[in-house]
Amino acid sequence: MNEINNIPASNQRKRIVIVGAGFAGIKLVLSLSAKHFQVILLDKNNYHQFQPLFYQVATAGLEPSSISFPIRKILQKRKNVHFRVASLQHVNWESKSIETDIGSIEYDDLVLSLGGTTNFFGNPNLEKYAVPMKSVSEALYLRNAVLENYEQALNTSDPTEQEALMNIVITGGGPTGVELSGALAEMRKFVLPKDYPELDFTKMTISLLEGSPRLLNGMSDYAGRQSLSYLKKLGVEVRLNCLVEDFDGTTVSLKGGEKMSSKTLLWAAGIKANSVKGFSEDTIGPAGRILVNEFSQTKFSDSVYVIGDQALMITAENPKGDPQVAQVAIQQAQNVAKNLNNLRLKKQLKAFKYFDKGSMATVGRNLAVADLAVGSLKGHIAWLMWLFVHLMAILGTKNKVFVFLNWIWSYITYDQSLRLMIKPREKK
Ligand SMILES: Cc1cc2nc3c(=O)[nH]c(=O)nc-3n(C[C@H](O)[C@H](O)[C@H](O)COP(=O)(O)OP(=O)(O)OC[C@H]3O[C@@H](n4cnc5c(N)ncnc54)[C@H](O)[C@@H]3O)c2cc1C
Repeated sequence: MNEINNIPASNQRKRIVIVGAGFAGIKLVLSLSAKHFQVILLDKNNYHQFQPLFYQVATAGLEPSSISFPIRKILQKRKNVHFRVASLQHVNWESKSIETDIGSIEYDDLVLSLGGTTNFFGNPNLEKYAVPMKSVSEALYLRNAVLENYEQALNTSDPTEQEALMNIVITGGGPTGVELSGALAEMRKFVLPKDYPELDFTKMTISLLEGSPRLLNGMSDYAGRQSLSYLKKLGVEVRLNCLVEDFDGTTVSLKGGEKMSSKTLLWAAGIKANSVKGFSEDTIGPAGRILVNEFSQTKFSDSVYVIGDQALMITAENPKGDPQVAQVAIQQAQNVAKNLNNLRLKKQLKAFKYFDKGSMATVGRNLAVADLAVGSLKGHIAWLMWLFVHLMAILGTKNKVFVFLNWIWSYITYDQSLRLMIKPREKK
């Protein structure tokens, strides 16, 4: 492979181009032997994001920098790995090259791990006015939006406007919606009345709307029921079988005609895969996920792999594919790394099988649910387990220490200390 953008020719090594440095991309880079491959990693950002804790950035509990990690630092000691900040635009699978905003790059094998983005199901009003949370910058935007609304609420004497500014509606009763609702309810209880003593927080409503008959659909019935009871205890108004039809920035319209007054609609109700040009329709499954075989290879080329949230692996045993969670992304990356090595050694490829280590969701202090192989847990023990698992999964010792200290501080003081409205300066 030729030299490109100051990346040397790959010589005898196979050039593996990986696009997306999320859970899947980073795991793959760290699992490939630098002795045997030249690896080019591309991401549109220069940092890796730890998505499970976005909601804590949005609710002023953690700094964005505590859950983001510079990709170059991860790769500092890796030989034959070259990182470029670049956005993928097109895959030319016939000529084995990709088009990016920094030019064209040839590959021997290509691995796509672009993850997902918010799905507004084609509703332009929701896209315009509802607030998503699929990146650290969106989480920061959400923090600013909520705080700005309270600042504005102080300056109006119109009760209807004040109600709309203070009320928060969250759509989607998965882990993100449940965690956000719980954290906001705790802010309403412990923090906001102290920050804004002129406002009456007994009138503020936090509503969680879920389209199906239960919460936490990917988890056990027990976890769903328990999280519902925790949220009710925290004063969250949970509405099941409830669908949002529209939002104009002030009024949320529900299916059936009911209206809710709120300037903040947090959208945690849908995900679709990030799209790339160069794929025909028959290679794409539901929610834009690219269809792959049991080795994560695409239909049209054995040299193009897709892993993580962007991939959909349908098998006879698993007709709906694996869930879009971090463990699936990580395990698929490990399997592809093994298979790239197997190909090099002319060995047989290994089919991917997801090993479910369990799942958990937290609702508030001492309140969490966990589904494990041995059974389901709730309360204090599940909460401690949730803290430990998430702390261990964050990249970087400094980040682990900062997050841990923040959690201890919040636990002791009942306070989230990052209620700052920091915005990038707009260029004139
Ligand atoms: C708010 C939230 C909470 C979550 N909580 C949990 C949880 O508690 N437990 C759990 O297991 N899972 C959770 N998930 C899901 C989990 O984060 C994903 O399953 C996981 O991140 C998927 O990994 P990935 O590598 O496929 O994609 P991602 O981690 O999303 O990485 C994709 C990467 O691709 C890059 N990219 C995108 N488009 C381009 C482009 N065109 N060009 C170049 N680069 C591009 C992005 O910048 C990103 O770095 C959560 C997700 C969200 C959004």
